Amino acid sequence: LLLAYDPARRLARLQVQMERAVVNARMIYALLDQAPLQRDKPGAKDLVVTEARIELRGVSFSYASGDTILRGVDLVAAGGKTTALVGPSGAGKSTIISLIPRFYDPSEGSILIDGQDISEVTKASLRRHLAYVSQQPYLFEGTIRDNIRYGRPEATDTEVEEAARLAHAHDFILAQPFGYETPVGENGVTLSGGQRQRLSIARALVRKAPILLLDEATSALDNESEAAVQKALESAMSGRTVLVIAHRLSTVVNADKIIVMHEGRVVEEGTHETLAQHQDGLYARLNNLQAPDTGA
Ligand code: ATP
Repeated sequence: LLLAYDPARRLARLQVQMERAVVNARMIYALLDQAPLQRDKPGAKDLVVTEARIELRGVSFSYASGDTILRGVDLVAAGGKTTALVGPSGAGKSTIISLIPRFYDPSEGSILIDGQDISEVTKASLRRHLAYVSQQPYLFEGTIRDNIRYGRPEATDTEVEEAARLAHAHDFILAQPFGYETPVGENGVTLSGGQRQRLSIARALVRKAPILLLDEATSALDNESEAAVQKALESAMSGRTVLVIAHRLSTVVNADKIIVMHEGRVVEEGTHETLAQHQDGLYARLNNLQAPDTGA
């Protein structure tokens, strides 16, 4: 924790945060099927999703800039369950998430969905089965309806509204000057942080994808928005395979499985109950740091 005060580290971190914002925006585009796709392997087949089980086998990875970020990661996110990634900053959690849509490919090891190596399937079919909600909700220039429909351009008006209802966004949308036709983005109405998040959740929901990649927001919202966003996320997570970078204790506690990362490795895994019992484990230590009343 003390390392966070080192100015050089802070600067490096700022740079990564800026890069990450770009990566985030690119990731959203990629998942909206609007990014130019790299070529598929000859003979690549479409991904067939049954349970939506994700498995990483011996995955190592380094960015072009050099350092090895993931070191032989093995993990399974069971179909229809929530798997939470936790660990100190820089442990490699976001990097894992960005490998699933093949934003990057592992330098070693493989990633399987329902037993199919994702490097062997068509990217379009892979991404059709994925939805992504980032920490920073991104709104495109256009109407509220356009912004939700970006998730799946062929969605009908009814499907857009259905997604908005599930994301607890329908009521505030109707309260806007032109309802679903209200322009947002730089030249449109200003929405609160919580409202923007619910729109981005609606955008993910309209995809009806079986796998949800979620980078939970760290920034605090006011209590009312917080509760609404939480409900929106609960409906987005229900019945899906969720891989979430968890920053909130409630998400972690409710996860079916918690994977604890440190310096590019999985160091512990289990449920909140089992992990919290290992008093000298990293999870228990992280957990103590987060508790509001440690008296430290
Ligand atoms: P946080 O909790 O801060 O989001 P994290 O566990 O998600 O951290 P990653 O974002 O995966 O960690 O970062 C792991 C390492 O990879 C860090 O050292 C970071 O500096 C580096 N890194 C992340 N993104 C990039 C990038 N686009 N290019 C180069 N290095 C990167």
